[in-house]
Amino acid sequence: MLDQQSLTPLIMTEDLKIIYPNGVVGLKPANLEIYDNQITVLLGPSGAGKSTLLRALNLLVPATNGCVRVRDHGVLSRRGSIRLHRRQTGMIFQQHHLIGRLTALENVLMGRIGQYPIWRSIFPLSEEERRWALECLNRVGLQEKALSRCDALSGGQQQRVGIARAIAQRPNLVLADEPVASLDPASSIRVLSLLRRICKEDGIPAVISLHQLEFARQIADRIIGLGSGEVLFDGKPAELSDSVIKQIYGEIERMDTM
Ligand code: ADP
Repeated sequence: MLDQQSLTPLIMTEDLKIIYPNGVVGLKPANLEIYDNQITVLLGPSGAGKSTLLRALNLLVPATNGCVRVRDHGVLSRRGSIRLHRRQTGMIFQQHHLIGRLTALENVLMGRIGQYPIWRSIFPLSEEERRWALECLNRVGLQEKALSRCDALSGGQQQRVGIARAIAQRPNLVLADEPVASLDPASSIRVLSLLRRICKEDGIPAVISLHQLEFARQIADRIIGLGSGEVLFDGKPAELSDSVIKQIYGEIERMDTM
């Protein structure tokens, strides 16, 4: 049986609209709800608005109109509520955003530093923190690489460190912006399946932007299809019809994305 908390969306966008300072519309007014324990894929071609929407969910891109409401913090507007929400949000990026000259373990520990006030993060992290970081590396199958420099790891391994760093934060939400765009198809599906498995095991909702339709179909509970900054589809992967795909990608691009 669902409890009250899981019936309340973790995040709601209310008429959220993003116009960039140069006048480009990044997102047309969107009303979306993100629930616990749901893997949501933002799908669409380059320039569709996936990254804009994803980043708006923790106000990395400011709202021009409308707002983002978070279950625990209300409308994101005050500096305090944004900081708390970001601390509970694990971000995974296309280019990993790892520090190459640091070890995998040190990079994962960086995820923990963000959990403390600045004065506290000056001090070395405790043995307990290091054990937790190792445990996170273990979950992505990289414990034996803990002391390897990140720039000596493969692209897929680096992204697994990125996942470990995100979960080391003990987030209540994961946002992944094109996490496999720089990986080959076999590594991509391994990384995405791993991300899905960990989020499901921990009950963490994830919002993942992808441009590959097949990957979206394999890992999503829900797909939000975007085109020209507009939400064109919101439903289960099985409900994504050919005509909707055509609408999202256009006839020609569809061939490249499948
Ligand atoms: P996607 O992630 O689907 O590739 P984006 O969200 O990056 O799409 O981009 C949506 C639209 O907003 C595009 O037209 C893009 O050129 C524009 N855009 C994205 N970021 C900026 C920015 N910082 N300044 C101006 N325009 C931007």
